[in-house]
Amino acid sequence: MTQPTQTIQAIAVSPGIAIGRVLRLRSHSHLLEPEPHKLEPGEVESELNRFHAAQELTRKQLTELRERLRARLNSQDADIFEAHLLLVDDKMFVGAVEKGIREDLYTADYALYQAAEHFAAVFNGMEDEYLRERGSDIRDVAARIMDNLSEAHNHEIGLDDRRIIVGSSLSPSETAQLDQSKVLGFAVETGSATCHTAILARSMKLPAVVGIPPELPESLSAADKLILDGYTGKIIINPDARTEEAYRLKAEAAGALYNKLEQEKALRPETTDGFMIQLAANLDTPEKIDEVRQSGACGIGLFRTEYLFMNRLKVPDEEEQLDVYKNLLVASGEHPVIVRTLDVGGDKLNSNLYRAAEQNPFLGLRGIRLGLHERRDLLETQLRALLRAGIYGNLRVMLPMVSSVQEVQDVREILDQLTAQLDREGKEHVSRLSLGVMIETPAAALLADRFAPLVDFFSIGTNDLVQYTMAIDRSNERVAYLYRPTHPAILELIRRTVEAARQNNIWVSVCGQVAAEVRVVPLLVGLGVHELSMPPASIPMVRRAIRSMSMHEAEKTAQEALRCSNSSDALALSEALVRRCAPEILNI
Ligand code: PEP
Ligand code: MG
Repeated sequence: MTQPTQTIQAIAVSPGIAIGRVLRLRSHSHLLEPEPHKLEPGEVESELNRFHAAQELTRKQLTELRERLRARLNSQDADIFEAHLLLVDDKMFVGAVEKGIREDLYTADYALYQAAEHFAAVFNGMEDEYLRERGSDIRDVAARIMDNLSEAHNHEIGLDDRRIIVGSSLSPSETAQLDQSKVLGFAVETGSATCHTAILARSMKLPAVVGIPPELPESLSAADKLILDGYTGKIIINPDARTEEAYRLKAEAAGALYNKLEQEKALRPETTDGFMIQLAANLDTPEKIDEVRQSGACGIGLFRTEYLFMNRLKVPDEEEQLDVYKNLLVASGEHPVIVRTLDVGGDKLNSNLYRAAEQNPFLGLRGIRLGLHERRDLLETQLRALLRAGIYGNLRVMLPMVSSVQEVQDVREILDQLTAQLDREGKEHVSRLSLGVMIETPAAALLADRFAPLVDFFSIGTNDLVQYTMAIDRSNERVAYLYRPTHPAILELIRRTVEAARQNNIWVSVCGQVAAEVRVVPLLVGLGVHELSMPPASIPMVRRAIRSMSMHEAEKTAQEALRCSNSSDALALSEALVRRCAPEILNI
């Protein structure tokens, strides 16, 4: 049964329009207890067959996933699926399920649930941390098989057409695994524009919305058709033909504008009165380097190295990291590549392979804190790889989640030790790394004048700066309405940061999501930011905005915005300038 036509307003987090049928997502990490139905003895054989068919399908999906990750990441990230594949065929595990069906006359679902819970409990009781983690692998694999036992197939398989995923949540690591050839976009309950799932969606060019009503996924079936508008956050369920046509035209118009703007990639991103703003790309996975080059970016303004560490069983070692950084540097030629040291924590990479669970991970041992305290080994390995990679290009390194000057001094000390160590080992390396800090805590922004003499650059991470200044969890859709980068408090922190940089002759970039928001670009330019770093797909639009305005107008607008009392007034001033000089980019 399909639903009647209905419109739902959610929160837009990744632009674009998707039109297609629904794929309901079931979280693999939650293995729900099925009803313990008993079989009639005559049903045993067909139930065993059903289990074996689901097992076979799971094997196929996992092999596909492993191959896809191998092709993408040329690393051991695929290991995790290798381990899952072994579990699918594990004799003890499979034997226990078969016994449950054959001897206890349980349905395949219940027998599978029981076997998974039994083995998960055994692993969880082990002392070795590595083996304890395998407990969640068992549940993960069982949940996949369970999906394949039921009608609700999961998102990687058997689809003959591309679908729109609708579900409760998608973690960054699940999003990284989505097969773009089978997924049109997604609508989930949890998240916000700056959560890492949304950041990945933009990088994968998948339209996405968050904040859907919790009951929506359950109320839809594969027969329902959706329009998902990643510009406005609207979802239209089973649209009529006229509405669908209107959205198809909107998608075409957006595509045509994008193609037109792409033709301008060789043009300098400078204001009409000749001030150049560097436009750089944010990169999450190294294989996207080609997209970066095609976008006309002046280099990589933020390489989020967390994704090198995601979906794998082993931490990447120094040689593997060296290889990745070297390849990026070589591919970027003279252009700068800013590599951010591992920013574990918050909504990223909370696997206990890296850190213990915390009640408030956004306020916990995140980013540079982890490297300086509990996991010095991770920081040192990464810095050694970076010192060695530096000889291959224009490398800059930046530190995430900095909140006190001591942290920078500590990293400098470690760098000195590592340099001496590499000398002793006779390994080639740069003698000095260009070092910057992310300005993403209010403390760092307020003390920018103390940080500036110690570093070579600042990069303002507005995603976190807004989170910590406004006291809102960036992954919580219920406070997403408070995510306002034009809030006067944020503008004031940016102003102070730029001022401190100017007085110390260092440069400032903005690498948070706001750098790609054309309505806000006049304020960033007018406040004196030198570089904007964003997903490659956003560069053409921002270039057009910059080339259409003068620095004089942008500065005037920014000064006025700084005097505003609330974010909407400041945004209105900025948007008015874009509307005057480049209305075409606001018309989507
Ligand atoms: C930021 O906080 O703005 C930023 C760019 O870093 P991340 O989104 O990875 O936390
Ligand atoms: Mg951040």
